[in-house]
Amino acid sequence: MRLVLVGPPGAGKGTQAQFLAAHYSIPHIATGDIFRANLKAGTPLGMQAKTFMDRGELVPDSVTNDMVKDRLLQDDLANGFLLDGFPRNVAQAEVLRANLTQKATPLTAVLELAIDSSEIIARLSSRRTCKDCGLPTVGNEKCPTCGGEVYQREDDKEDVIARRLEVYEEQTAPIISFYRSEGLLITVSATGAVEEITQRAISALSRVS
Ligand code: AMP
Repeated sequence: MRLVLVGPPGAGKGTQAQFLAAHYSIPHIATGDIFRANLKAGTPLGMQAKTFMDRGELVPDSVTNDMVKDRLLQDDLANGFLLDGFPRNVAQAEVLRANLTQKATPLTAVLELAIDSSEIIARLSSRRTCKDCGLPTVGNEKCPTCGGEVYQREDDKEDVIARRLEVYEEQTAPIISFYRSEGLLITVSATGAVEEITQRAISALSRVS
């Protein structure tokens, strides 16, 4: 299963990605997580990404595409992969397609998590993230998964959320039509309980894989 997960910030991509990656035994590749890990470790890549991330803007394609290309060369992809947060614009989608075509490993499907914009701000501004495992949570002082401390991501503060949503509409939403025209798009509603959404996704994906 070679899967891309797409949806606005706050649609629950990180949470669903975690369950779907476990279900299909495939690595969860989240570009935002890779950037945050680099930021935490103080690497040059992290430093390069920081100014863009703090403003809710996209990190330049040249940086992001190379980072994903390198990740897709690692040898843990025998069962496939789940990309979360990449591609974020049509140019990235085209680079990914070229890269996968060259390796004769095209995408199996692109799963869109659809959610009303009114729900997004409420979800994101109450979201906290674990300092240790990076998983999102709401209403907990400690991470329910690993017990780590939780914090509010700089880019989950309200002014940055507004910019991230604009960036999504302007730059990322067009990849939905791109993948629809490629015949790869599957859309499921991202409203409801986490487990229900996962089941919806698995059932929709069982029709294509
Ligand atoms: P996320 O955790 O997916 O919400 O990503 C957090 C931030 O990392 C984004 O707001 C961007 O600044 C950056 N980022 C993550 N993925 C990408 C990407 N595919 N292209 C450019 N920037 C990205």
